[in-house]
Amino acid sequence: MINATSPGLPSAEEIDIPALKAKYRQERDRRIRKEGQEQYVRPVDDFAGAYEADPYTPVIPRKPVCEEIDIAVLGGGWSGIAAGVHIRKSGLTSFRHIDHAGDFGGVWYWNRYPGLQCDNDAYCYLPLLEETGFMPSKKFTDGHEIREYAQSIAKRYELYENALFHTMVESLRWDEELKRWRIATRQGDDIRARFVIMANGLLNIPKLPGIPGIHGFKGHMFHTARWDYDYTGGCEKSPILDKLADKRVALVGTGATAIQLVPYLGKYAKQFYVLQRTPSCVDSRRNSETDPEWVKTLKPGWQAERRDNFHRGANERFRKGEKDLICDIWTEVNRNLSAEQEEQGWPELTAEEFAVRFEEMDFRVMERLRRRVDAIVEDKETAELLKPWYRYQCKRPTSNDEYYQTFNRPNVKLIDVSETQGVQRMTESGFVANGVEYEVDCMLFASGYEVTSDLDRRWGIPVFEGRGGLSMYDNWNGSYKTLHGMMTHGFPNLFTTGYYQGGLNSTLTYNFEQQVKHMLYIVKEVLDRGALAAEVSKEAQDAWIRHMRETEVNKAEWIASCTPSYFNNEGKPDVDENGNERYRFYLGELYGPGWDAFMRVLENWRSRGDLDGLVLSR
Ligand code: NDP
Repeated sequence: MINATSPGLPSAEEIDIPALKAKYRQERDRRIRKEGQEQYVRPVDDFAGAYEADPYTPVIPRKPVCEEIDIAVLGGGWSGIAAGVHIRKSGLTSFRHIDHAGDFGGVWYWNRYPGLQCDNDAYCYLPLLEETGFMPSKKFTDGHEIREYAQSIAKRYELYENALFHTMVESLRWDEELKRWRIATRQGDDIRARFVIMANGLLNIPKLPGIPGIHGFKGHMFHTARWDYDYTGGCEKSPILDKLADKRVALVGTGATAIQLVPYLGKYAKQFYVLQRTPSCVDSRRNSETDPEWVKTLKPGWQAERRDNFHRGANERFRKGEKDLICDIWTEVNRNLSAEQEEQGWPELTAEEFAVRFEEMDFRVMERLRRRVDAIVEDKETAELLKPWYRYQCKRPTSNDEYYQTFNRPNVKLIDVSETQGVQRMTESGFVANGVEYEVDCMLFASGYEVTSDLDRRWGIPVFEGRGGLSMYDNWNGSYKTLHGMMTHGFPNLFTTGYYQGGLNSTLTYNFEQQVKHMLYIVKEVLDRGALAAEVSKEAQDAWIRHMRETEVNKAEWIASCTPSYFNNEGKPDVDENGNERYRFYLGELYGPGWDAFMRVLENWRSRGDLDGLVLSR
């Protein structure tokens, strides 16, 4: 057998799909809040210091920088590092990274909570493994190892010498006369950059639930993105949270972060409350150390091959006879499907036939995961509350070998707050859930990030074009307007990384690498041609938007069926001027023909060599 179905997978006969659909719908509907994204608040006012200050690296005072450079890279996370690598490979030297953090690493710089690991196969996720010769120590590797690796790449490519850390960008303004972006920072810098690469990440701004009374709580409180080891005891590499031994702790949220964290809090806190609104699905982790014998078998090109395999397994479908190299929760539906197809002698399936099978397998896998809860959690009522009732990938699938077990501890209590669509209230000394007041010493928030909220909240950097001073947010106004997701008419020499209007690969870092490679091609061409600026023409932008819409794969039904989350705008559809509702994937506008096709679009565009759709000015 090339692949095998997962142990414990129920047969199609064991599940009742219409009944499950009805149950999913009911669970979704009761969670939708009329405020949508507005239910969250930015950690401002009295919280601001905690999120803007850097607890990890001392701030070294410096004089404001006033200079002209070729490229400013806003952000020192994976996308910013990838940009730096490609800048160096292009032979350009006049550039700067600017980051609010004290070092490279992005999310892996800020996040240091106990249990932090990469939830994706690290052999895919960590970039440039073949080039650097580095190998992660395990499949789901630890956060500090990822951060140290990111920083080692920054050293290798000499990115430190140009970096401005502890620097908060306040605005970007295109100066039409200079044909440069003027970057103003809170540190008083005036940097005039020919090109700007926005590498500000997807998970850069923590968000808090707007729970009534949140500001009045007198105990200790923090978001997981700024873990306070002084309070909890332990440290990142040895998270023995011994100072919690006499503390009552509550955690808000049960997403990917919480799943990793809960076992540690359950182990060390005197009393631990998990406040759950929607359960995650949690598979066994089967993490394994990297086998040096396996490493010896790897042939050049192995990482690209593995990433392609992962992408097909997680987001498309395996090819006939293709082995699943990843074998985890992300690829389970497709792995099971290919195992069954193999048994049946690989029948030819149309896209529609495959979709029907995929949907059925989705229900079977989710049922397997619900049965896993019953098998581990002793208290039946708690087990029932922990079961996920939604389609696979409506929420990020997770894996952990101690999460469900934690609920068998006598000091741990699960409090389901779905009935009131979240924690009801906070008081000076604790919180109220389901009408009951609980006293706690510490409230922790694993409540996520500004991923799909309005751009001004998400980016936190006002961006203005130079002719009429129009802001990028007003220009996009809820609907992306780009060429290839990277450049926008009216905003010359500005590049955006992310999923705005292009292909999506299951390995986030691979998306970034490909995007910045394309950006650097453009930068180099513009400079080599002696031009000062490149701007997407309105026609080229409109043509790309049209092409995106014409080739769109409509996933509205699936998105509408999902429980609310940042993927689907908290379950709220867009409403057009005629009152028509449209559900869409909120992470970005994705290229329907898929990642490989998107790569071909970019490669063909570059190989034509004519910068088609860009207007150069000298
Ligand atoms: P999420 O946004 O996924 O989860 C936030 C949690 O807070 C949800 O459980 C949410 O409930 C809950 N919540 C929000 N408001 C309230 C409220 N008022 N009352 C009670 N609960 C509330 O954040 P995470 O930090 O868990 O994850 C964010 C992203 O970070 C992930 O999607 C992933 O991309 C990334 N990540 C990656 C990891 C990796 O290994 N690479 C590891 C961890 C995170 P509800 O679901 O009902 O909205």
